[in-house]
Amino acid sequence: MADSEVLGFQHMGLDQRLLQAIAEQGWARPTLIQEKAIPLALEGKDLLARARTGSGKTAAYAIPLLQHLLHRKATGPVVEQAIRGLVLVPTKELARQAQTMIRQLTAYCSRDVRVVDVSASEDFAFQRWVKEIHLVMKLRMEPDSSMLFCSHLPRIYQAFLMSATFNEDVQALKELVLHNPVTLKLQESQLPGPDQLQQFQVVCETEEDKFLLLYALLKLSLLRGKSLLFVNTLERGYRLRLFLEQFSIPACVLNGELPLRSRHYRTDLTSGLGFYDCVIATDEEVLGAPFKGKRRGQGSKGERASDTESGVARGIDFHNVTAVLNFDLPPSPEAYIHRAGR
Ligand code: AMP
Repeated sequence: MADSEVLGFQHMGLDQRLLQAIAEQGWARPTLIQEKAIPLALEGKDLLARARTGSGKTAAYAIPLLQHLLHRKATGPVVEQAIRGLVLVPTKELARQAQTMIRQLTAYCSRDVRVVDVSASEDFAFQRWVKEIHLVMKLRMEPDSSMLFCSHLPRIYQAFLMSATFNEDVQALKELVLHNPVTLKLQESQLPGPDQLQQFQVVCETEEDKFLLLYALLKLSLLRGKSLLFVNTLERGYRLRLFLEQFSIPACVLNGELPLRSRHYRTDLTSGLGFYDCVIATDEEVLGAPFKGKRRGQGSKGERASDTESGVARGIDFHNVTAVLNFDLPPSPEAYIHRAGR
């Protein structure tokens, strides 16, 4: 086969039930990361891949994982029920999104493979377990948490590590969980191409100009459809919402202070539940930082803790978002990539 030809899903030796589910998704061919990662993963290799947000990386790890599980069910000894695959993601929103994707991929084998989002579970035992794992998800690489994490892993396992950015934390995780991995350096930009994403920079002289410009863009319908407006602090988010409210522009704030169910409601822009055209969001890095200023709904005893396991910027696959507006400049180039990759 010529190098330039894409290896289709049907030539990867996948279970028919998976192929059926993939067809139902309407995916004509694998994305670049899927094309490269799936055959290597099916061979049993550990993988380290840089894959940008929206590159199809969830399916790139989920498809070989499910294939292995189905194969084992069909050919392996009858063993007691046990967790066979573990997906670690940095936020609860992403956990929910990964679960949804895996559920879709297991639509025709849901009796054989079941998936649970333990981060959303009310079950105390699950929650405690998640908290322990969370030590590592939050990438605090102290010896104790590394030991704790490793003690949860079986002696032999296959692991994939996929991230939109390669930084020190990813490097540390690589040392911790991967064995002799194949590194995939894909020839793709970290952001979608100009057919999917157009980027503009507008310089405003003053802070007031920024608010005024946003007002004009929205009132004149120059920004149409759903917009994600990113700010750098929770306080700014509420301030921006109050500003828009004055002009009868409905907007909601999405951040880690909100109850999880409410965050799901707001991120669910696909189903029409997303009543708001403007969603004001903060990066998860900001949510982890101490909050300066008084919080809304703060009781007399003080803190209403922000959910540091929440994050809107990172990896969430918002459908139907036509514009991402960096109302505040992102704190780092990585943050820009995570924001603009929506
Ligand atoms: P992800 O990078 O995993 O968040 O995926 C981003 C989006 O790509 C999701 O909406 C997927 O449904 C979609 N997607 C995944 N694989 C494919 C594919 N092979 N063809 C078209 N779309 C895909």
